[in-house]
Amino acid sequence: MPQTDLLKTDCSKCAALCCVVLAFDKGKDFAFDKNPGEPCRNLSGHSCTIHDRLRQDGFPGCVAYECLGAGNRVVQEVFDGQTWQTDPRLVRVMMEAFSAMCEVHKRIDLLRAAGTVSLEPRDEQTRRDFLAHLEQHPWNGPDLNEFEVGLALEIDIFIHGISEHLPAAFSARR
Ligand code: SF4
Repeated sequence: MPQTDLLKTDCSKCAALCCVVLAFDKGKDFAFDKNPGEPCRNLSGHSCTIHDRLRQDGFPGCVAYECLGAGNRVVQEVFDGQTWQTDPRLVRVMMEAFSAMCEVHKRIDLLRAAGTVSLEPRDEQTRRDFLAHLEQHPWNGPDLNEFEVGLALEIDIFIHGISEHLPAAFSARR
């Protein structure tokens, strides 16, 4: 059976985490201010009540946002389908997990992009090892909390080291 791509966002398997976790300021991308951790006032359950008219209603920033599948992975893998709406005590830990998983998936995207160019055999093996770990590791809250101060830095140093081999378009993704 073909596996769903980890980087494919599936809002139906998320819990509107981006609509809760992220902060935004009133301006050209958003029609009002929202604090981090505050459910957007346009949310009803896990659905956006203005989903079909986001641009018209002043929320092009929501259209442009892409979590690269981090939200659905957090809800399904880390929290086994539980959400902050059925258990409000989960808001803070889900926020933290979502933010960290976004960083995991951002690096999966970078490491996959690095696989499209010719690398030294040792670098290619390192790239594959990092990628396999990020994709296959059974992430939990503590591991995600440690990611940004540990493995993420190692990966960033590796990416920096091979950056001379990467096309210019790659820089825009970092
Ligand atoms: S406007 Fe809709 S998509 Fe944007 S944060 Fe609010 S609920 Fe989410």
